[in-house]
Amino acid sequence: MSEVFKVKQRLAFRLAKYSVVMAFVIGLVLTTAQVLDDFHVQDSQFDKTIHKILNASKPPATRAVHTLDHTLAKEVVFGLMQYSFISEVKISDELGEVLASQVVPDPVKKSSTLWLTEKISSAHKTYTLDLQAPGFVDIAPGKLQVVVNKDQAFQPFFERALTIFVAGLVRNVLLAICLIAIFHVVLTKPLARLASQFASVDLNASKEVKLQVPEVHKDTELGLLNHAGNEFISTVHNLVNELRESHQALSKSEARLAQLINQVPQLIMAINKDGDILFANRQFAEFYQRPVADISGNALLTLHPYIEEVAELESIRRCVEVHQTEAEISDFTWTHKSGKTMHYTVQAAPFEYFSEPVVLFAATDISEQKMVQDHISHMANHDSLTGLPNRTLLNDRLELSLANSQRNGKCNGLLFIDLDHFKTINDSLGHSVGDQLLKKVADILTKQVRASDTVARLGGDEFVILLQSFDGDETEVTKDIEHVCEKLLELLAEPIEVKQHQLRIGASIGIVQYPLADKGIDDLMRFADTAMYHAKESGRNGYAFYHHNMTAAVEKQQNMESQLHSALEREEFCVHYQPLVDVRGEVFGFEALIRWQHPERGLVPPIEFIPSLEVSGMIVPVSNWLIGECSRQIVEWKKSGFWREGWYLSINISPLQFYQADMIPALKEAITQAGADVKNICLEITETVAVENIEFAVSRLQKIRDLGIKIALDDFGTGYSSLSYLKDLPIDIVKIDRSFVQELAANCKSQCIVEAVINIAKAYNLRVIAEGVETKEQLIMANKAGCHVFQGFYIERPQPPNSLCGSYLKDSVES
Ligand code: C2E
Ligand code: CA
Ligand code: CA
Repeated sequence: MSEVFKVKQRLAFRLAKYSVVMAFVIGLVLTTAQVLDDFHVQDSQFDKTIHKILNASKPPATRAVHTLDHTLAKEVVFGLMQYSFISEVKISDELGEVLASQVVPDPVKKSSTLWLTEKISSAHKTYTLDLQAPGFVDIAPGKLQVVVNKDQAFQPFFERALTIFVAGLVRNVLLAICLIAIFHVVLTKPLARLASQFASVDLNASKEVKLQVPEVHKDTELGLLNHAGNEFISTVHNLVNELRESHQALSKSEARLAQLINQVPQLIMAINKDGDILFANRQFAEFYQRPVADISGNALLTLHPYIEEVAELESIRRCVEVHQTEAEISDFTWTHKSGKTMHYTVQAAPFEYFSEPVVLFAATDISEQKMVQDHISHMANHDSLTGLPNRTLLNDRLELSLANSQRNGKCNGLLFIDLDHFKTINDSLGHSVGDQLLKKVADILTKQVRASDTVARLGGDEFVILLQSFDGDETEVTKDIEHVCEKLLELLAEPIEVKQHQLRIGASIGIVQYPLADKGIDDLMRFADTAMYHAKESGRNGYAFYHHNMTAAVEKQQNMESQLHSALEREEFCVHYQPLVDVRGEVFGFEALIRWQHPERGLVPPIEFIPSLEVSGMIVPVSNWLIGECSRQIVEWKKSGFWREGWYLSINISPLQFYQADMIPALKEAITQAGADVKNICLEITETVAVENIEFAVSRLQKIRDLGIKIALDDFGTGYSSLSYLKDLPIDIVKIDRSFVQELAANCKSQCIVEAVINIAKAYNLRVIAEGVETKEQLIMANKAGCHVFQGFYIERPQPPNSLCGSYLKDSVES
């Protein structure tokens, strides 16, 4: 309350004002009534006084009239005129003749009380007195006429009345001043003090403050007011305290809630109907790398520039707002500032934020979960090693592609690829090398096809390629597919570097073109597999298109393979021996050639079952058995006296066996257990095996030689035919493949090659054997070319051990 409010507004003044006005009005009315009453009393007394005066003048006046004594009349008039309030006197006889008269002229300046006199009475009053002498009743009387100036007569009265009025006024003014002072002291001042005390009460102060009035007012209304005020303050103070406490508790719980909201891993925000964010938690703010305080008040779009994502949220917000129900987006894509795509499950619910209806969003980061899910689904559909689609995904794609091709009539190719020498590498160099190799192969395959094609890995060393939608007729498509296959085979025949090994792998590809009438994906896969099998059977590193004839052949083959598994146990394998002789027929040694004595099919040649043994890995135990068998045979021949000093037995070593980690100990054990001499053993490895991994081959061959075993390079000229290998490989013998030998007579080129090989071999101090000598001419030609050891049907076919005679070319040399 303002201390300096105007005097007029003060209560004391107002009270005094009203009291004074009332006193004044009442005083005025009463004074006026009293004055009026006074006036009437005065008036009647005045009347009486006039009558008394007139009556006193009546006798002389009557005498004057009676006697017509003008002098007397004048004396009477003069005498009356001495009264100041008589303004005119006239004495006239019975005939109306004026005996004497006198008039006081009206003053120039009018009396100030004239108006009042006229108001309450009349200013002039005329008194007439009949002048009749006693005894002259019959005669008309004379007249004494007096005009009285009442205003003049009442002047003293007016003066008194004025004094009364002025005194009343002064009294009232003094009364007002006194009242103001009293009211101020008694009422206003303590009230003002009380008000100022009230105003200065601090409800927030911990200690309660009391209002105080001076002792004298204790039992007055002020005391009551003071008491009531204190009661009020105390109540309010208590309420304020309670309010403060509950406010503190509320703030505390609000802070705890905020802390909780900031602690949860979810992104939380509240958006109002205008799309403005009213509230956001720390996680939300951190997502935008801003302080929490910066977030509220912003439209979502100003924070998040990805319009479609904001639009999706906006649509769900509107839905929640209209239906007032919760809603959820199970997988919501929310792009981070960095451009990284995050995934959230977003829950939206209607909410009231400080009495404003909003939609509360809580977003749970499921990116990791999603990544895991994607990873799992990727894993379910992809090969973990190479990352290529696996059989499941391949089947899907093949299904789709087949359906498409049936609809649009376009032709597609399904390629079934099997690596030729993977197993040997995997077994010899370990799985980690094998795995790396598969990855590189996967790369090679992927790079060679279009993005729309599919390269899948079925497991092991089996890959499948879907070549999609070729235009043109079947022959053109076939040509295109052939082109792809040739390119693939060429690349896969190149050495592949893995962990410093130069690996030659090779592959066989089976192809089926589809759509094929009424054939589903399982049929197609089977056909491609059959064709691959066929390609492998017909000498590796090649491709074959599926033909329905193949199925029967392959089935037969597969049937045989299943029988192969028990062949070793059933002792169905046997060895035939083919002599190696010089031009005079002198024996150098024999080559051991395995045979399968099939219970129904009879003697099965190795070409028909060795590939299967290799594929199944059975070749390893079979080879070990064979080495043991050959060693035992040498011992037996020695015992029977058939064996001559210097002879050796040549044993074919399969690639898989050559790369076995325990090949050398197994070899040593098989030979020594049979009691044979390592010097009588020669191992034949093909050129392909030797160059598959040249460093490994060199070291392994060296170790074998160190044992005292001889090494022959078999089928020379058919593989990677590089003469430069000859100097690197630790070998004793080179066997020139029969294809060259058989063409010696007809083909000059073969002649040159054979001669060159023989010259180099000799330069490296190697013995050269001509394989597959079928005629005398071939023998002579080979001999001419510089070859001194021969093997072939012309000399002797492979024979069971007991059928060997040990004496050859007798007739031929003689002839
Ligand atoms: P290879 O090592 O080149 O063996 C020589 C093959 O040529 C033998 O065939 C032999 O019978 C045949 N042959 C010998 N002289 C002539 C001839 O004048 N004309 C013709 N056309 N062929 C002749 P076979 O016994 O059928 O063996 C075929 C292949 O099977 C062998 O070729 C060898 O690679 C493999 N093989 C044979 N026995 C074994 C074995 O015990 N272990 C391994 N790993 N492979 C073997
Ligand atoms: Ca051989
Ligand atoms: Ca050979």
